[in-house]
This record gives sequence, structure tokens and C-alpha cells, in this order.
Amino acid sequence: MARGKKIYEGKAKVLYEGPEPGTIVQYFKDDATAFNAEKKDVIDGKGVLNNRLSEFFMLGLGQIGVPTHFLKRLNMREQLVRSCEIIPLEVIVRNFAAGSMAKRLGLEEGTQLSRPVVEYSYKDDALGDPLVPEEYIAAFGWASPQDMEDILSIALRVNDFLSGVMYGVGIKLIDFKIEIGRVYDGDFQRLVVADEISPDSCRLWDIETGRKLDKDVFRRDLGNLTDAYSEVARRLGVLPKNATPITKPTLIN
Ligand code: UDP
Repeated sequence: MARGKKIYEGKAKVLYEGPEPGTIVQYFKDDATAFNAEKKDVIDGKGVLNNRLSEFFMLGLGQIGVPTHFLKRLNMREQLVRSCEIIPLEVIVRNFAAGSMAKRLGLEEGTQLSRPVVEYSYKDDALGDPLVPEEYIAAFGWASPQDMEDILSIALRVNDFLSGVMYGVGIKLIDFKIEIGRVYDGDFQRLVVADEISPDSCRLWDIETGRKLDKDVFRRDLGNLTDAYSEVARRLGVLPKNATPITKPTLIN
């Protein structure tokens, strides 16, 4: 399918105009970044895995009635999505303390929270995506109180869905980030889950061993990121068992 003009290039994806108005082609790159792009690398096969995994999660959400921007996967690295206006917030849901929460509160990573905690960061790389209270969100007009009610309910539904799916394959969902977009149907606006859901934006620990199967493998130099993401994909049945490797074979002389 012919893609149109490049609209935007981010750290892990490129967006192109889609074949019809109101559609966008989302291309998954192999680039990995962490610590606000201070650490960078190209991880062979990451884009292919995230394209597949994000398709899997978005389709599943659609099946249980959580609206998403996803339309269809086009090929190994591209998917067609509905164009939407991204609300400039990172919606973070946590079930166990880790990362910035563990650091901020001096908690041991993996400490179970008594209930899921939802928090919001203002999406601005130059500011380092600062955590913001809901009062700021309303005061600066990033989202209305009604939007925030809907966002909370979507975030908790996504959490229940992802936690259950992961639990079924022996993985603990520690935390994750989603982005929410507005789509307009005539005069009505609807909120949908947008961007991507992949091990780039979740923390996933093996229930038995605690092995990390997410971007912390890259952030903290814990091993091969593609192996970790492939393990998630394999357990979810997203990669056929005898699939040819998506990474180029290493030549041994
Ligand atoms: N996260 C993300 N993008 C961001 C910041 C966070 O996808 O720009 C995800 C991250 O992968 C983790 C969750 O949101 O699953 C919570 O991240 P945290 O606030 O602990 O930040 P970090 O420790 O990753 O800086």
C-alpha cells in the first residue's frame, strides 16, 4: 500500500499520511532510546516485534470494547491507524513499584501496590516529561475533567486486560504507559488508545524468575533486547513457533 508524505518522525516510529483521509501509516523503527534519548542504539528486529505486539494488544482491546486507533497491520513494520489528536499526556498505570516511582519514594522495585495507581506526565521531551497533577491538566486545558474521567476508566480497563493476558503467559505486568487520542465523528469526539502498546512502554517480569522482558533490558544493559521481546511474542503466540528469526543470523567463521 502506498504511503503518503512523512508527517512526523519520533524516537521509535515514523508517521506517514495514509491512503485515505483520516488514516495514518505508522512505521516501527529498530531504534531504541532511553533516558530522554541520551542512550541510543539500533536493535535489529525490534520494530518488527513491536508492530506485531502492538497489533495483538490493540486488537484484543478492541475485542473487549476498549476503542483504539488501530485499523490493520499492513506488513512487517507498518500498520494503518486512525489519525487522531494526541492528548499531550503520558498515562502511566502501576501495579508494582518500579522505575521512577521506586526511586522517588525509596521503594524496592517489585513492591506490590495495594491498588493500581494512575499518574500523568506532560509529554514534552525538552522538559523530560514532568509528572503533573490533574489540576494542571485542567488548568492548562490539556484535557477536560470529563476527558480525565474517561481516560482513567480506559487506563484501568487496559490495565486489567494487559495484566490478565500477561498473567496467562507467566508474566507480571509491573507498569505501562499509554497515550490517548481524540477522534472526531461529526460533532462528537471519542477517546481512543493511540500510539503503541509494546515492551517498549511496559515493564514485564517473568513470574517465576523475575527476568525482565521489557525495555529495561536496554536501559540497564541486561542482555539482548530482541531475545526478551521475542520471548514475550512467543509466549503470546504472536510469533509462530517455527518462524524464521527476525534478526539477521550472526555469521560465525
Ligand atoms: N514509559 C514510557 N515512556 C516514557 C516514560 C515511561 O513508555 O517516556 C513507561 C516505562 O516503560 C514504564 C512506565 O512507563 O513501563 C513507567 O515509567 P517510569 O515513570 O518508571 O519511568 P522510567 O523509570 O522508565 O524513566
